Amino acid sequence: MNRILIAEDEARIASFLEKGLRGSGFVTAVARDGVAAHDLAAGGGFDLLILDIGLPLSDGFTVLRRLRQAKVALPVIILTARDSVTDTVAGLEGGADDYVAKPFAFEELLARVRLRLRAGRAPEATVLRVAGMSLDLRTRRAYAGGRAVDLSTREFALAEVFCRHPDQVLTREQLLSHVWGFDFDPGSNVVDVYVRYLRRKIGADRIETVRGTGYRLRAG
Ligand code: CA
Repeated sequence: MNRILIAEDEARIASFLEKGLRGSGFVTAVARDGVAAHDLAAGGGFDLLILDIGLPLSDGFTVLRRLRQAKVALPVIILTARDSVTDTVAGLEGGADDYVAKPFAFEELLARVRLRLRAGRAPEATVLRVAGMSLDLRTRRAYAGGRAVDLSTREFALAEVFCRHPDQVLTREQLLSHVWGFDFDPGSNVVDVYVRYLRRKIGADRIETVRGTGYRLRAG
């Protein structure tokens, strides 16, 4: 699942983008000023940044410059004013990957987002394999210990996150935000419940509890 950071101070536009992107299967987060945008983007965990140029505290150019100086390679699409060619040129020269001029139709933005996400990576493997377990991302079929296992949508999403980070400790918060999105109550025990479901299906010893921190999928 791709995660998109939206840096936009205008609530109306931010919510328009969020709704549209979520409806298209992306996970989103919104930063309402340039400082928050920079910190979230630099912190990792996002696949793309949609960056408005006119932001409070630190404008989009500054955010972009600081990210590129820090070698953050996150793809960035800037939102510029329709009549400002200067902004567009400055943004692209400053390291933006693409731009969309306001006002824009959602589909136009979506096309750019998809293009950028595809351009940024090698063709993605469709089957993830970790220690005798495999997930076919195309057919959504899962196998463990040589047999097919029937996973619900959430269980599959959770298994996918684990398989993408084998042997790595994943915190409850990371799992929550990857599988359930940012809206979920961080105090919820939904992660623990789903880890239990998953263990029942793929084998209890595959997912290790790291006390006080989270969980880890054993790769060996
Ligand atoms: Ca703005």
